[in-house]
Amino acid sequence: MTIYVCGHSNPDTDSVAAAIAYATLAKALGEDAVAVMQSSADALNPESKVVLERFGLAAPEEITDAAGKQIALVDHSDIGQAPANIDKAEVVAIVDHHKVGDITTNTPILVNSQPVGCTCTVLNEMFKLNNVAIPKDVAGAMTAAILSDTVNFKSPTCTDKDKAAVAELAPLAGVTDTEALFMDMLKAKSAVDGVPAQDLLFRDYKDFDMNGKKVGVGQLELATLDQVAAIRDDLLKAMQDTKADGRHTVLLMLTDVVKEGTDLVVVSDEPAVIEGAFGGKIDGVSFWVDGMMSRKKQTVPNLQKAFGC
Ligand code: MG
Ligand code: MG
Ligand code: MG
Repeated sequence: MTIYVCGHSNPDTDSVAAAIAYATLAKALGEDAVAVMQSSADALNPESKVVLERFGLAAPEEITDAAGKQIALVDHSDIGQAPANIDKAEVVAIVDHHKVGDITTNTPILVNSQPVGCTCTVLNEMFKLNNVAIPKDVAGAMTAAILSDTVNFKSPTCTDKDKAAVAELAPLAGVTDTEALFMDMLKAKSAVDGVPAQDLLFRDYKDFDMNGKKVGVGQLELATLDQVAAIRDDLLKAMQDTKADGRHTVLLMLTDVVKEGTDLVVVSDEPAVIEGAFGGKIDGVSFWVDGMMSRKKQTVPNLQKAFGC
């Protein structure tokens, strides 16, 4: 039976690269595995498109329904981020680097989740443990994924293991300048010209259950906040529309990767709760949070505390 290896919805570069890497490893170990993603190739985010093109990899096929399939999950273990009908699938493995989600299984499965900056860091270790050589193109995508998830090693989620993994993977991929690779990815990721505000909000967006309240958090990583200066009103409108769809709060992290902080745009039934979560004061529709780079490690835990989770 084929194992479909799948990252989270709204796939990022790690979800795509990790699916490709895990499928490659599983195949090398004699399993029938295929990388898939919860997006069409066209709708894939611009950073991931650049990465696949750069390393000559085909985009994974889109999966729309998990029912009846064997699924290996990478880069998530939440039902809400998994493909539709995951409850009617057989989850056979989880490789991740997030908090443990709500997926359960009837039988023991392989779970390798580590507090590191990227799923591909975990996978690099799994290749080594299994004595499987990582193909050049796959090593390239894994390098890119680690640079992306750790924001070029600047994110607080970054660990020594992530840096060591890039030091091993980049030479395998023929990447001599990881800084230049990161800047190429950042340029692609932060390109906003001509992109509808709704698409920008959902480019890297996740919904969370905060004590029964639905809270959405999007993030745009930018080289400078000037990139979105002209479209702030459009972004706000997209956030308001999204909130009107049954959410308590919608946040948009406008993260300045160079200044290493985030302008947090807030649309909420209780703005004071959001202010309290980050010790800030909304000026207009947003406030600056110095040092905030990571949704997972900084934004979400602070929100959970503020919402009493
Ligand atoms: Mg991810
Ligand atoms: Mg990841
Ligand atoms: Mg990410």
